[in-house]
Amino acid sequence: MTVTMPSLPLTGGCQCGLVRYQIRAVPAMFYLCHCTECQRQTSSAFGESLRCDPASVTVTGAMRTMRRVAESGSVRLGDFCPDCGVRILHRSEGDPGRLNVKAGTLDDAGWLVPAGHIWTRSKQAFVAIGEDELAYPQGPDDGGAALKARWRQMLGNAASEAP
Ligand SMILES: [Zn+2]
Ligand SMILES: [Zn+2]
Repeated sequence: MTVTMPSLPLTGGCQCGLVRYQIRAVPAMFYLCHCTECQRQTSSAFGESLRCDPASVTVTGAMRTMRRVAESGSVRLGDFCPDCGVRILHRSEGDPGRLNVKAGTLDDAGWLVPAGHIWTRSKQAFVAIGEDELAYPQGPDDGGAALKARWRQMLGNAASEAP
């Protein structure tokens, strides 16, 4: 699979329009998370995570932050629009370099193809994963290195700008 990314910056925002954002650098990876927390948070089958360099993301409009202690003990932060409730960002308190934009909020999300799937052990049965797709029963055991490499490969020429 190849990915044809629109020209930068990528833009997006919440449902009511209070929160808007820009992404000015090629994202490091895009993957789907099938964990039960993402299912509950999205009220859907999986979460969409577009990993971005925090320095490349600008948000306008004041967000509220939800704080949750993960099973691993690390503290996850979820930034959302206080008016319409749409989740915009996921962060990790102890790891400031880790920023995921919730990719369903992009103005144009039609180009996205996931580099892989994590937490497939709680995947809903109707979600089909291709045999050649990267899939991990829990979190990626290599810190996401294979997902990043696959994403770069899918991006082709645009990948030279990816972190
Ligand atoms: Zn809103
Ligand atoms: Zn998840």
